[in-house]
Amino acid sequence: MDRPKPRFKVSPLAAKTKFRKALSDWFGQVGKDYPWRRTREPYPILVSEMMLQQTQIATVLGKGYYTRFLEKFPDLESLASADDESLLKAWEGLGYYRRARMLRETARAILTNHDGKFPQDERALLDLPGIGPYTAAALMAFAFGKPSGLVDGNVSRIFARLMADASPIDEQAVIQKHREWALELCDPISPDIHHHAMMELGQTICRPGRPACEWCPISSYCECQEPEKLPNKKPAVAITGIDEYAIFCRDSAGRILLHHESGKRRNGLWKLPLRSSTECLGLGKIYEATYAITRYRVSLKVYLSDPDHLFVAMLGDEWTDLDRLNELPLAAPFRKALNTILCDF
Ligand code: SF4
Repeated sequence: MDRPKPRFKVSPLAAKTKFRKALSDWFGQVGKDYPWRRTREPYPILVSEMMLQQTQIATVLGKGYYTRFLEKFPDLESLASADDESLLKAWEGLGYYRRARMLRETARAILTNHDGKFPQDERALLDLPGIGPYTAAALMAFAFGKPSGLVDGNVSRIFARLMADASPIDEQAVIQKHREWALELCDPISPDIHHHAMMELGQTICRPGRPACEWCPISSYCECQEPEKLPNKKPAVAITGIDEYAIFCRDSAGRILLHHESGKRRNGLWKLPLRSSTECLGLGKIYEATYAITRYRVSLKVYLSDPDHLFVAMLGDEWTDLDRLNELPLAAPFRKALNTILCDF
């Protein structure tokens, strides 16, 4: 049977030392061991933070992305000199490919402007391309052992509940207020452990939906009586459904027609060539799946096309040998489509 939520006694801001100790004692007992928690080297920490921004730990770690990326690009120099194709290939499957390019830009800027050494100052970190307030605060605490106002989605949720604050956590003023609280509460002796503990508490105890307050190490500092109703967010942006029509076409030599993207979103990635719905009229549909990207829900439909079928080859379309397929960086929805289609054709 559920135990009732323990009663609020005192604000964490009025009892910082005890609050920090309760949190770090708990983390000492249950904290998970991730490779980026075992190092103070800023480069692997930066790679982990960039990967984890929009991807779950289970994917980054369980599917080997983090380890493989660091094997391929073990330091700033190797990353800075990476060409587009090998960089995107190492990132394939993680999505949001802009992160990989920004990571390379950061490496180049550190080599060019800082003699290859990460600046240990938050303002200088923020001046680097691709480094925002979250990543700068993470590097300050995890790599350089300095207190910082580190706030991710987990920490925001904890703050909203701790302070029983119904303001939308994605409003700029609230984000700023949470950064100030995070800095004020941060343990100056072990800022890394403090922030790891906060994030882990948000992942495991003060989780979305119904938190496990009965097991919470900081429940006596928590003012919230109905935590399952918090946090609040600004009204969600409407999701727009769109259709994508692609063709699968193979020539007599067994090559597949692919398209090399030059647009903004997936620049440098490969995919099946897209056509209009009218151009696909009369072709047989061989695959259909949906995927989500930003505020779109895309319905991808793939049609079987004969090389002799009348269609206009577009700039960027290329006949590609099948054995190159595994070397090329492919957008994940198209990799999935091709894996399925190639079992049948
Ligand atoms: S789990 Fe969250 S809501 Fe529950 S007591 Fe802890 S901080 Fe408060």
